[in-house]
Amino acid sequence: MYRSPEPAAVTSFRTGAIIMEIKKKNSNIHCSVTQCKHNMVSENYCGLDCICVGTHESNPTVPECTNCDSFVKRCGTEC
Ligand code: SF4
Repeated sequence: MYRSPEPAAVTSFRTGAIIMEIKKKNSNIHCSVTQCKHNMVSENYCGLDCICVGTHESNPTVPECTNCDSFVKRCGTEC
């Protein structure tokens, strides 16, 4: 039986120049890319509701040929 992902991932609050994001892990998307701002870091899961996956190859044949196109580089201070 299909189980829908946990409720929406990211909510943003603005307090002056400070942006605080509250993420909720999507237990359907396991990910260890902690350099991505969408990664939960303490748990190896993505915080997005869904992701886009693509390829950088013209004829992908192995997992290494694929990319998460939803990746966003994490910066030192949340931005
Ligand atoms: S957006 Fe992609 S790379 Fe980033 S945490 Fe989610 S699955 Fe991982």
